[in-house]
Amino acid sequence: MRRLPVYLLIDTSESMIGIALDSVHAGIKAMMSALRQNPYSLEITYISIITFADKAQQLCSLKDVFTFVVPDLEVSPGTSLGAGLRLLNDCLSREVVKTTSEQKGDYKPIVFILTDGQPTDNWENEAASLRKNHPSAMVYAIGCGDDVDLSVLKQLTDNTYLMEQTTVDTFTKLFVCISASIQSVGSSIGSGDKYDNNVNLTDLAPEVLEKVEEVREIPKGKQRQVFIPCKCQKNKRPYLMRYRLIDGQNYGFVSSHPLNKEFTSEQSKKMPPIPVEELLGDSSCPYCGNTIWGKCACGALLCIPDDQLRNTCPTCGLTLDYSVGSFSTDQTIG
Ligand SMILES: [Zn+2]
Ligand SMILES: [Zn+2]
Repeated sequence: MRRLPVYLLIDTSESMIGIALDSVHAGIKAMMSALRQNPYSLEITYISIITFADKAQQLCSLKDVFTFVVPDLEVSPGTSLGAGLRLLNDCLSREVVKTTSEQKGDYKPIVFILTDGQPTDNWENEAASLRKNHPSAMVYAIGCGDDVDLSVLKQLTDNTYLMEQTTVDTFTKLFVCISASIQSVGSSIGSGDKYDNNVNLTDLAPEVLEKVEEVREIPKGKQRQVFIPCKCQKNKRPYLMRYRLIDGQNYGFVSSHPLNKEFTSEQSKKMPPIPVEELLGDSSCPYCGNTIWGKCACGALLCIPDDQLRNTCPTCGLTLDYSVGSFSTDQTIG
C-alpha cells in the first residue's frame, strides 16, 4: 500500500517551546486523534517526529497513526537546525519507498519544520542536500516567535510561515491546522482527485499564521537585532537590552533580560557601536523599571529615572548631571 509520509521536525530549544512544551505535546496528541477519526488519513498517513536542540534525534520512526504513540518531548539549549536537517535527510532516504519501474512508491512526503529560526550550527549544506536529494518532499517551514530569522526559513522552502505569538493557544491552533492540512491531502488522494499536497496553511489558521512571501533584505551595516549591555543604577546589576531592526534604519526596543554576570569588554567590542538615535522606544530596566538609560563618561550604560538629573554610575561610581546628547553605544553578542 502507498503511504503518505509526514515528518514533524520540531525545534525543542528553550527559546522555542520552553513555555509551550505541554501545549506542543497536547497539540500532537490532538492531531493524532483527529487523523485517527479520518478514514482516509487513518489508512494512509504515517508519521515520524524528529526533534532538534543541542542535538537531533528521531523520537519515533515512520508509523501509522493507529499505532503511533506520542513521545515525550524534552527541552534543551541550542538550535541545531543543521543536525535536524541531516537526520531528516537520512530518514527520508531510508524510510520513504521510492517509485521504480517495478513498484509504485509512497506518496510525496510532507515535512513540517517548526523552529525559532536562529540556528546555532551549520545548516546551509544540509538544507541544500534536502532540496537536492528529496525534491519531491513538500516542506513547510513555520517560524515561531517574534525574532525569527525568516531568511533562514526561506532558504529551506518557499512555503514559509510566521507564528509570531508563541502561547499555549497558538500552538494548539497550529497543530489543528497541521492536522487539517494532512487530512486534506489524504482526502484528495482518497477521493481520487488530482493529488496536490501544497496547502496554504494561512487559510486554515488565519489568526495565528502569516505566510511570508518576501523577506526584506537587511541593509549593509545593519543587523536583524542588536543587544546592548546596561546596568541598573539601583542594584548595580547588569542586564541586556534587545532591539530589533524595524524599518531598515532604526531599531525598536523589544525587551530587557537580567544577566548573571557582566559581559567583558572584549565581548562588547566585537561589534560596531550603534548611534543612540537609531535606538527607538522606551526601554525598561528589568530590575527597577526605569524607562530611560544613559551613558557615563566611563563608557558604561546605566538605567535612569526619567525625572532625575543627578545620577551615579553603577560601574565607576561617578556622580554627575546627565544631559541629553548624541553618542554611540557598544553592542554585544546576545
Ligand atoms: Zn534599574
Ligand atoms: Zn561610569
